[in-house]
Amino acid sequence: MTHPKGLLIDLDGTLYHGDRMIDGADRLIALLRRLGRPYRFVTNNSSATPEAVAARLKRMGIPAVPEDVCTSAQAAAAYIAESKPDAQVFVIGEEGLLKAVSDAGLLRVEEQADFVLQGIDRQFTYLKAAQAVRLIQEGARFIMTNPDLLLPSDAGLIPGAGSIGAMLRAASGAEPVVIGKPSAVLMDFALKRLGRRASETIVVGDNLATDIAAGASAGCETALVLTGLTNNANYEALRAAAGVSPDRTHRDLHGLMAELSGAGG
Ligand SMILES: [Mg+2]
Repeated sequence: MTHPKGLLIDLDGTLYHGDRMIDGADRLIALLRRLGRPYRFVTNNSSATPEAVAARLKRMGIPAVPEDVCTSAQAAAAYIAESKPDAQVFVIGEEGLLKAVSDAGLLRVEEQADFVLQGIDRQFTYLKAAQAVRLIQEGARFIMTNPDLLLPSDAGLIPGAGSIGAMLRAASGAEPVVIGKPSAVLMDFALKRLGRRASETIVVGDNLATDIAAGASAGCETALVLTGLTNNANYEALRAAAGVSPDRTHRDLHGLMAELSGAGG
């Protein structure tokens, strides 16, 4: 007997844009609850804590608790703790990453680091870069929370965690371990939290290169929604660039809801 499929749902461009809920997001979550379908929100963004993400969703009218949220920061901290439970970590990042590191029982240090863990840091400086590069040269392993080079903002696209990581990579010559989508590390973390196998899971997102690529390589079913990054005009180019096709494409969240209501399992 197979379980009804669980869902791993992207946030930015899938359930909201900035502080605006995407039409149907509140009803999608209500539907999943009514159908008893398990779900988790999965985000590459390492800057916010799960508590802050859940509060933001609730402010927009989308029901959420911190336990619903899986961030690249949590997956990165879990990855490090699994490799070395009492690891010393030099962190470049914001509150979400700092909290994930301390929640995982890791020790933040400025010297003698086992790991350099880097996410988005809007207070990033040349001195932080120099320190990180020196620690990597001394043997620390380089971990990036997520590869996203650009982030959407009210002022247009701005440099993301991946752009900071690109600087550290160029200067140190070290290849980082990347945690966020399309990496399997965040997917494995989220599947464990969801309590479903990949074959019992649908990955929902707006980004072919991250969400759909991650879901496809993990062995999940994939559903692309044209609510964010991807639209009818750029679909072919993005699909070719990502080298992956979604199992299904929905114009909006109502299309996804119609399918989930009809499927029954
Ligand atoms: Mg997205």
